[in-house]
Amino acid sequence: MLVRADWVVPVAAPPVRDGAVALRGNLICAVGPFDRLAEEYPAEPVTHHPGCVLMPGLVNAHTHLALTALHEVVPSAPFPEWLALVVRAMRALGPDDLAASTVLGAHRAMASGTTVVGEIAYGPESPAIAADTGLGGAFFWEVLGLAPEELPDRLAELEYPADPARIQGRRQRYGLSPHAPYTSGPDLLREVRRRTRAEGTGLALHVAESPAETELLRAGTGPLAEVAARSAHGFAAPGTTPVRYLSDLGVLDGALAVHCAELLPVDIPVLASRAAAVVLCPRSNAYLHVGPAPVKRLAASGVTLALGTDSLASNADLDLFAEARALTRVAPSLSAERLIRMMTAEGARALGLESSFGTLEPGRQADLAVYRVDGGEDPYAALLERAGRSTVEAVMAAGLWRVLGGQATFPSRFAETAARHAALRATLAIQ
Ligand SMILES: [Zn+2]
Repeated sequence: MLVRADWVVPVAAPPVRDGAVALRGNLICAVGPFDRLAEEYPAEPVTHHPGCVLMPGLVNAHTHLALTALHEVVPSAPFPEWLALVVRAMRALGPDDLAASTVLGAHRAMASGTTVVGEIAYGPESPAIAADTGLGGAFFWEVLGLAPEELPDRLAELEYPADPARIQGRRQRYGLSPHAPYTSGPDLLREVRRRTRAEGTGLALHVAESPAETELLRAGTGPLAEVAARSAHGFAAPGTTPVRYLSDLGVLDGALAVHCAELLPVDIPVLASRAAAVVLCPRSNAYLHVGPAPVKRLAASGVTLALGTDSLASNADLDLFAEARALTRVAPSLSAERLIRMMTAEGARALGLESSFGTLEPGRQADLAVYRVDGGEDPYAALLERAGRSTVEAVMAAGLWRVLGGQATFPSRFAETAARHAALRATLAIQ
């Protein structure tokens, strides 16, 4: 199949006017001007999207799809207050609720052009549901509040794959997330790092998300001190920053550092030399009255930068372009091209999935997002200005159209799940 659009943005190469992508099964086999590809593949059917810009499926590098049911349940509040409300609301969600919530989140993400997620998983449901929906990604099982010797039993309980390296494939990777320095003690953090390294899997952490976290690490005081005393076994305030603490523990090496909203200038070279990537979540930070992250300095540091919406417990939607526009308000000097890279190639690299996703190149997965956007002379700027949920024309994941003509190809299940979500929200409403 050839997919043709007014502009094709391969990310790995300059945009192509009147371009096309040639697909075989679930893989890309060529990218270039439509005329050339039509000659090379004369027998292939053509799906034409006039008036559109075509780009790789987006990488939303930090999500909690299972928390979609908490949308508009937990109000915007300072981080420690918000966290207490989320923990309370999550207790009301049974496994079936989490699964229904994940389905809805996966559909919402896909409906705005995302085909890859960096997902915090609470069990085997999220990668299974993601695979069903067509979403690829890295799935980090969350473990917190444990002594290190409790980790194997807890992972068995959460049905973490026994041999993740053997079953992770071209579209999905696995890993662990020990949540944050105030909910996992130093020994658990080190044990998780040791295990993920031995397994060849990923590690994601919420890092420097709030001033309360900084205060806890510097002085052992503040609103997170009680949480840490309850959850982070063996924690003692190191008298330094979260980034420095994790780096000294050896936990930051190769890790996905999510948020980094509250950094000191000295933290930035540490992140650049140690972390696999930093995931920025500007709208979630604003919802929790934290940050903004020092985006300009991070962007100049050489660290891989990705973008995430975080969960709908702290955001309005899962639209990554809306997130990118929020980031430009915090860091107006970031170019549109860099932002598009953060949402695609850098996001894929952050998740360790750059050989499958993030660019349109032969051998990559057939994951495409097509927006009804007039690319003009600068398709990067046009996308950044106008692409998003309301301008989605088509979304392909793993070689199948998941959205076509602006319509999701999964309407019946979506409606059923949306009804269930509405009922769930009613029961969760926090007064
Ligand atoms: Zn998060």
